[in-house]
Amino acid sequence: MDLASLTASELAQWLCRGEIGAEEVTRAFVARVKQYEPAVGAFLTFDPEKALEQAAEVDRRRREGKPVGPLAGLPVAIKDNICTTDWKTTCASKILANFRPPFDATVVCRLRAGDAVLVGKTNMDEFAMGGSTELSAFKVTRNPWDLSRVPGGSSGGAAAAVAAGMVPLSVGSDTGGSIRQPAALCGVTGLKPTYGRVSRFGLVAFASSLDQIGPLARTAEDVALLLEVLAGHDPLDATSANREVPPYRELIQQPLPTIRLGLLVDQLGEGVDTDVAQAIREAVKVFANLGVEVKEVRLLHHRLAVACYYIIATSEASSNLARYDGVHYGYRCDEHRMEEQLAEERRRWAEKGPSSVAEEPDPPMVRLYRKTRAEGFGAEVKRRIMLGTYALSAGYYEAYYLHAAKVRRLIREEYDRTFQEVSALIGPVTPTGAFAIGEKIQDPLAMYLFDAFTVGANLAGIAAVSIPCGQTREGLPVGLHLQGPPFAEPLLLQLAYWFQRETDWHRRRPTLPAPDKPAL
Ligand code: GLN
Repeated sequence: MDLASLTASELAQWLCRGEIGAEEVTRAFVARVKQYEPAVGAFLTFDPEKALEQAAEVDRRRREGKPVGPLAGLPVAIKDNICTTDWKTTCASKILANFRPPFDATVVCRLRAGDAVLVGKTNMDEFAMGGSTELSAFKVTRNPWDLSRVPGGSSGGAAAAVAAGMVPLSVGSDTGGSIRQPAALCGVTGLKPTYGRVSRFGLVAFASSLDQIGPLARTAEDVALLLEVLAGHDPLDATSANREVPPYRELIQQPLPTIRLGLLVDQLGEGVDTDVAQAIREAVKVFANLGVEVKEVRLLHHRLAVACYYIIATSEASSNLARYDGVHYGYRCDEHRMEEQLAEERRRWAEKGPSSVAEEPDPPMVRLYRKTRAEGFGAEVKRRIMLGTYALSAGYYEAYYLHAAKVRRLIREEYDRTFQEVSALIGPVTPTGAFAIGEKIQDPLAMYLFDAFTVGANLAGIAAVSIPCGQTREGLPVGLHLQGPPFAEPLLLQLAYWFQRETDWHRRRPTLPAPDKPAL
């Protein structure tokens, strides 16, 4: 039996009945990671010893008849922007390359309390800024369906690890699509919960009014299983919702209620790959066969979503990332060299006057900040800090930030109105399947436009899920986007669950190269 091919829910049943042990399960997944990680590159930290220790502890407690949590014995990978005391939390940035947090994020505490087996940290775009995982300071992650293509991002490592069968469950973060988009490109199921549903205490902030942590897995049922553990109020996160966590797994298996879905027809036309549009239309038929009414709808403000998102996200990022100053923690430039250079410049300035150096030397503190940040951040992160600083500057604030905040309100209101007419919206997650590594790297605007369908849900704070619903002619996965009102996770996952009962897209697996063959 290939344990790594089972879903988390299936494994949980086997474990619960005592037919297999947590150590056996963990060994099977560790073996997969060892086999395929050299080709895929999903992890920044992988710690099989610690994983096996946790698994042995679960087995011991079960043998002794002690109670165990809902994730007992299930391997879980965590995106590297979520704080863990066991391992470094680098955000895939040089500036945090050696940062080992002194505390666990709330979701990590909850996973531990749920007896999950934590196996390591997954790769991402630096500070979650990006949509391809090519912008990690450490390595590129490859799409298990085609190793010459990106897995999407920024939670690319998390999605690729699930797609390659290296873990049954992983935890990512989504500021503008970073869970749903890689889930779509890697053919797995990923949920961006409602803003406030999952605590963000210990998530390294990118854009605080948009960031959410959420689950990735193979099926809607597995996503529900993981969400039950992750979700809940947390006094340490002032934005976390004080609302009960529903029994998602139980709810999603109930028969579908009589509802109407809205098909986002504007997301099936120009600029969208015909194979993607076709897969979405096929998905509509599946829902129709399930007795769900589907009506065409249009969101007029959506053409403004990308522009609005990139003002708000960069503005917040420019403020959040001010803390990486080389003083408090993280990377610091070589001070000795800096002092030497400064002394030299001062000497020249004093001797030969202002024309001998470019400008009057900065005081050492300013220079330390400047050099540390110049060396520690990658180009995309710097671009965003500059854009955000500009948008928040006196004289530009009203024209950019304030304007974007108003557009954001219109987007939210349009969703609210639409959800009076339809219970949820369906459409594509991305305009095309996975693109080639390097294809968009020189063109930030093309990369930003790839987020056109996902950023709206973050701006409005609503719930949204991505599920596999087809393949392009190249055999690449296509993701179906289901968006619902705040706290509609049960309905979205129920729709996903019934869709997955009728289709087998979520069951398809990529063919990975035999491990003895060198990857590319
Ligand atoms: N691709 C988007 C961006 O680059 C979304 C990132 C995210 O959700 N973290 O900002």
